Amino acid sequence: MLKELSLLKEMQALDTKIIRLKTLIENSPVAINECNRSYKDSQDERQKKNTDLDKALKQKRDLESSAGEKLEKIKKLRSKSADMKTNKEYQLHLKEVEQLEKEIRLIEDHILIVMEQIEELEKTSAAANKEFEKEQNKYHEAVEVVKKDQTEGEKELDALLKQRAGLVKHIPNEAYNKYMHILERKNGLAAVPAKAELCQGCFLNMPPQLFAEVMKGEKINTCPQCGRILYFEPETQ
Ligand SMILES: [Zn+2]
Repeated sequence: MLKELSLLKEMQALDTKIIRLKTLIENSPVAINECNRSYKDSQDERQKKNTDLDKALKQKRDLESSAGEKLEKIKKLRSKSADMKTNKEYQLHLKEVEQLEKEIRLIEDHILIVMEQIEELEKTSAAANKEFEKEQNKYHEAVEVVKKDQTEGEKELDALLKQRAGLVKHIPNEAYNKYMHILERKNGLAAVPAKAELCQGCFLNMPPQLFAEVMKGEKINTCPQCGRILYFEPETQ
């Protein structure tokens, strides 16, 4: 194979790795955001459940204080019962006490319902807290992995770029410029194998004459459809 063609093949292998690494590094914040999503969801869910529980607890306290106030009223009324002068007054007083007692019973029934709700909410709230902690740990672990990949990717990229700079020196300018021109226009893929008469860049079935030339590898041939540089690669069984 023509020396510069094999150098371009080598360069393409390097560039493919470089592009992959650059994409990985650039996408790190996206990857972190992805991890963040379910963590955020569990955080919202925990917040909601805890708020519901707080509301129910407050409702219970309000009901209890309302019952307490009514009980106080009854005590006050009872303390005055000795002062009642007429039977009518006394009957009225009794009715008032009865009414208050009835109201207290209703409040107590309501408190029981709220207590059942609290019991249920305590369970779901605890579950939501647990889920949140799990997601939080998962999130921190995932962020660590992404950051580690990023750091390692940057190191590897650095090494590859050095290797690339070394390789460029050996490629004649004209061939390198042609390669770069195609690389920029063809999605980071400038040199592709021709395998079983197929361009592996665009899968054009190439003319046999061209394939024969690519097999010889004596000059730089390009695909008539996608314009990429072709090099021969034998079929693997
Ligand atoms: Zn092609």
